[in-house]
Amino acid sequence: MGWMQSLKTRARQLVSGGRHAPRPIPVVTDPCYRVPLTTLESRTHFEPRRADFVAWWLHDRGHVTDGQLLTPPRLGYGDLARVHTPEWLEALGRPEVLARVLGVEAWDVDVDVVLPTFRAACGGTLLAARLALASSGPAVNLLGGFHHAYPDKGAGLCPLNDLAVAIAVLRSEGFAGRVAILDLDAHPPDGTAACLAALGETQVQLGSLSGSDWGPLPGVDETVLDGADDARYLDALDALLRRLAPADLTFVIAGGDVLAGDPMGKLRLTLPGVWERDDRVATWVEGRASVWVPAGGYTRDAWQVLAGACFRLITGAPLGAPLAIDPLIAHFRVIQAGIEPLASPDSWSLDAGDLEGALGFRRADPPLLLGHYSREALEAAFTQYGILGTLERLGYRDFALTVDLGTPGDRLRLRGRFGSDPTEHLLVETSVEVRPDPEGPVLFIHWLTLRHPKGAFAQGRPPLPGQDTPGLGLAREAGALFGRLADRLGLVAVALRPMWFHVAYACRDAFQFRDPRRQGRFDALLRDLHAEPALQGPAGFRLPDASMAVADGRVWVERAGEAATTYVWEPDELIAWTTPRPESPERSLEASRVRFGLRRERES
Ligand SMILES: [Zn+2]
Repeated sequence: MGWMQSLKTRARQLVSGGRHAPRPIPVVTDPCYRVPLTTLESRTHFEPRRADFVAWWLHDRGHVTDGQLLTPPRLGYGDLARVHTPEWLEALGRPEVLARVLGVEAWDVDVDVVLPTFRAACGGTLLAARLALASSGPAVNLLGGFHHAYPDKGAGLCPLNDLAVAIAVLRSEGFAGRVAILDLDAHPPDGTAACLAALGETQVQLGSLSGSDWGPLPGVDETVLDGADDARYLDALDALLRRLAPADLTFVIAGGDVLAGDPMGKLRLTLPGVWERDDRVATWVEGRASVWVPAGGYTRDAWQVLAGACFRLITGAPLGAPLAIDPLIAHFRVIQAGIEPLASPDSWSLDAGDLEGALGFRRADPPLLLGHYSREALEAAFTQYGILGTLERLGYRDFALTVDLGTPGDRLRLRGRFGSDPTEHLLVETSVEVRPDPEGPVLFIHWLTLRHPKGAFAQGRPPLPGQDTPGLGLAREAGALFGRLADRLGLVAVALRPMWFHVAYACRDAFQFRDPRRQGRFDALLRDLHAEPALQGPAGFRLPDASMAVADGRVWVERAGEAATTYVWEPDELIAWTTPRPESPERSLEASRVRFGLRRERES
């Protein structure tokens, strides 16, 4: 293995352009950086798994070793109080206050789990600053840059100001050096400016490029670039870097919401444009201490901004092209390779279950899911893939997994308890079977429910159609797990029938309707509902409202040359092939032939 590793390292040096050899930089992260809010993703389009995605990608590609991934200390109230008022720190103990700052509803906030995440993130920025100062080089904290937090209030996903707290703690320890903050998030650093003013900081330069104009901010070198593309943005960056004096410690807020298409930011950068931004900044701070934090980012690609910054700092060169991977699926593949033999295509006809027997997973008296997976093997998988850890952070414990064989399919149930409540609650239930298909055996999912009984629907928000309990926010993990299962068993595809629009919506990246014309109609439905002003909220597309409208018959469909009729949802089969299939021209043809729209209230 040694020669293989050194070859890989050499290859990386060549690929990175040889500006300098990869260097170990500290990267601070923690499992708790996965913000434990089940609705954060659907409400704000913020990817709660971003820190995990980047840490996994860096680690799985060999860009960092275990020793470089560092755990943040949870910052104490004494240190937080150097910046924040006692009243604000006390208010953060109330779920409704944290919920308002984080853009979710109070029922989703367990203060005892959510607040430690942000205290750890503050500790992470401080730890990164100490390490950067010690090495006169860069350090990264994978959650931080909470620049909208004021001494006495918070907003925009920022309950505590990690930057101001880190500066205040370092000052209290005698650090008297010059500090610069380069705020490259798409929004102005209003909270940071207020915190620095309250601290009486005169030695901190605060430079910012923003897509939105929030008016004059005292003490901030602000450039507003509404709608700027790569070229205009990079020109403004160069000008800002010329104005800033080199500092002993620089905080770089490498915001991900500058990407084109971000529902919150108002800039139009491409991924290569953002990587160029971070390359220029990294060159500018070379040889001096710098702390890199990610701040915002509300698109699917936002994780690649942070991944690209880390890659640049480690290898000395920016990433060459956007990463064409789903980071969750890529990581699950790595886990799978580590915990069980990879399936060969014919393992379904061979007895793959024997392999688990050899590994000691098989029960003497099984029911085996799909004839292969014992309860113990599934429990081990749920642990290895991080599902049980996430459920624990949502407040669940005492997990019990059962497997029952029957019709229509084999059933897996995961139960758990929460708090001091002795009641066992159903958290996960799925029913699956292997079905013959002309092209080979397919994993068919009869149903999947991911239940969060600890949550409760808040007043005024309609649940998704067909849902009796809020979800766990683990749909992507479930999809990736089914993919691994199919792969492990040598199946050609995973298939399901979406009973509701929102189910097909959640699956839209990995699955397509088997019938290309049906897929074309779904493409057209997405296209037209996305364009409906009534379905747009402050954070973009309102999926629950859209799914309700489809279920309630408030969506019309019009076929070229025909009168509009009420659209009735078609729960046809969705399929994800293990090996991708060529696209049929019928798909786009059908999409161009149909139009959808929302009935106005008075018409319904
Ligand atoms: Zn922002």
